[in-house]
Parts: sequence; structure tokens; C-alpha cells
Amino acid sequence: MSEALISRIESLKDEMGAVILAHNYQRGDVQDIADLVGDSLDLSRKAAATDAKVVVFCGVYFMAETAAILSPEKTVLIPDKNAGCPLANMLSLRELEDLRRKHPDAVVVTYVNSSAAVKAASDTCCTSANAVKIVSEIPPEKEIIFAPDMSLGSYVAEETGRSLILWQGYCPTHHRILASDILNLKKEHPNALAAVHPECTEDVRDAADFVGSTSQILEYCHEEDAGIFIIGTEIGIIHRLKKENPGKEFLPASEMGDCPNMKLITLEKIAWALEDNSYRVTVPEPTASLARCAIERMLA
Ligand code: SF4
Repeated sequence: MSEALISRIESLKDEMGAVILAHNYQRGDVQDIADLVGDSLDLSRKAAATDAKVVVFCGVYFMAETAAILSPEKTVLIPDKNAGCPLANMLSLRELEDLRRKHPDAVVVTYVNSSAAVKAASDTCCTSANAVKIVSEIPPEKEIIFAPDMSLGSYVAEETGRSLILWQGYCPTHHRILASDILNLKKEHPNALAAVHPECTEDVRDAADFVGSTSQILEYCHEEDAGIFIIGTEIGIIHRLKKENPGKEFLPASEMGDCPNMKLITLEKIAWALEDNSYRVTVPEPTASLARCAIERMLA
């Protein structure tokens, strides 16, 4: 069944001139059939550089929106339109505008895990990999609003020594990982190294050996000599870690770190997306241009 489905996806993809992108948190079988696997911004940028006419984004809605913002001439599809991100949904445009009114001189930095409308209303975006750098380059006399993730924000505040106005959003998946999960696994495996994502709570970050984005965790585990790693981020990444580091062992810090939204995407839904040219994700103007500016300011 699965082989027939995979060859159906392959032939539909060729017919349509499509490229399939899979986020690091996707199911293993979805990652395996993708043309590109990575983090959301990197995938959107790489897709924009291809000559594909159609982009199938296996991830959550804001990621497909980012691909549509960076590739306005391509058709961007998400295989399940219900694959939203609770963190991105914790901040609406109206809430951000209200916050800006309270702090009219503040620079607004938004994490890419946010809606296109929120990005469009921001001064700059950031990723979990570059948030510290972006914030540290803002003149020290400036107030900074950091949204929507309070855990990433508190990590950036710690690392930069800046006081940030934080929106109280959070990723429910990363907040289900507990410091005791890491500490218990460390007791069982005293030589293991723990690598966690900055969307985790502060006590989880304190219990870890390394804090970084998904791409930084992949790099860290590749470069470090340890035989066992405890991984404090969404468990889909374990598939890629094992595939790329066959001699090493990877333990999820907690099986609770499983994002149900990411897992809505399946091989069947990818085939249906290609067959029906659905679900199309578009970002209207001027939101798309304004959001693109915020992303470009970050890249600059
Ligand atoms: Fe959103 Fe968290 Fe799921 Fe990522 S893991 S899509 S931030 S809810």
C-alpha cells in the first residue's frame, strides 16, 4: 500500500512540477518522501529558489503562509488545512496592535511562528536560531516587544541581558517536556548530553547541556562525541537524528513532546493535495509585501 502510494505521489509531483517540503517535526514517512527537510524559514527560502510551480508544505499553516509570502508566483498547498499552530494562534493582529499602542516607541520583534498578519505588523522577524543576534543588534536605548513565544523571549532576555516586553504565548508541545524528564534520563544515562529547544521552559533549559533551534540541535548532535543524546524538542526530529547519525542513540526527553498539529499530515493527504490541487494557501496584499519586508529585515 505504502509503496503504491509513494509512487503515486512521485508521479503526481513530476506531472505538476511540485516540490515537497517537510518540517523536521513531521512523521518519518513524510520526511522520507520529501525533497527537502528542515526548519520552516529555511524550507521556504529553498523552495523560493527552485523553479517548482507548486510547493507542498508538510508542516503547519503559518509555515505554508511563509512559503507563499516568499514565493508569490508559486502555488502553495498544505495537505491538511486544520494543521494550525496553537503558539501562532495565541497572538492576533488586534492584540499586537493594542500592545504597540501601549509601547509606541518599541521595536516589535516577532518569531516566525506567527501569522502572516502579525509578521506584517512587525518591525522584524526572528527564528529560534537567530533571535539572540537580532535582539542584540537593536540599539540598547530602544524598548523591545518580543512575541508571541514567552519561553524563547525569556531565553533571549537571558542571553542578551536585555529587558523585553514579552507576549505570554507558548508552545503547548514544548511546555509538556519537564525538567524532571531530563534529570531522570540523565540519572539513567550519566554520559548522555541533553539538547533542548528554546521554546522549552526555563527549568528545562537549565537542566540541558545545549539550547538551540532544530537545525542547531541537529548540528550539535552530529558534532559532539557522546553516544547518547536526550532530545528536548518535538519528537519527529528523532527520525532525522537517527537517520543522519546511525552510530548514536537518541532518547526523546518526553513522549509528550508530540505535536498533534504537525502529525495531521500523512502520505494519503499529500497524494490528495496533489490530486486536487488543495488546500491552497495564499496571503493577500498588502499583508504579503509587509510580511516579506519584516522577513527581509531579519535576513539583512
Ligand atoms: Fe506550533 Fe509547537 Fe506544534 Fe511547533 S511544535 S507547530 S510551535 S504547537
